[in-house]
Amino acid sequence: MRSPPCPCSSALPYARCCAPYHLGAEAPTPVALMRSRYAGFALKKVDYLWRTLHPEHPDRAEPEAVGIASLRATCERLKYPGLRIVDTREAGPRGLPEVLFYARMFERGVDRSFVECSAFARDQLGWRYRDGVLVAPRDVGDPASWSFARIDALG
Ligand SMILES: [Zn+2]
Repeated sequence: MRSPPCPCSSALPYARCCAPYHLGAEAPTPVALMRSRYAGFALKKVDYLWRTLHPEHPDRAEPEAVGIASLRATCERLKYPGLRIVDTREAGPRGLPEVLFYARMFERGVDRSFVECSAFARDQLGWRYRDGVLVAPRDVGDPASWSFARIDALG
């Protein structure tokens, strides 16, 4: 039986894309982590989403049970039809690797898609999601028109 396509929009079968990370392997790069977290939302892998939050991510200030309940609610409230990695850089202004992405999301048919710049940092085990800054809400125009150069030019 063929594996379904991965929800991270890689065009690879899920089994050969983000599944190994959801099963416990460490994502080898910030982009791989970003993709596997989006797929994790789509597939309601709430323990994975919690585990891959960096210890200093603001949401980690919550007790684990509260954080996981909140992630589960987000997973269930939204649909996740696709992800597009728009730009990457090895070091942003804080020296952390950054990924600029367009995340498509719908809530009861309402478009909640956005462009975000996420920063990543390692803990003892692997890459973790450090924090993210919303760049543009759903009226993003052509997502391919976004880049770090454009954002930096905005100041
Ligand atoms: Zn994937």
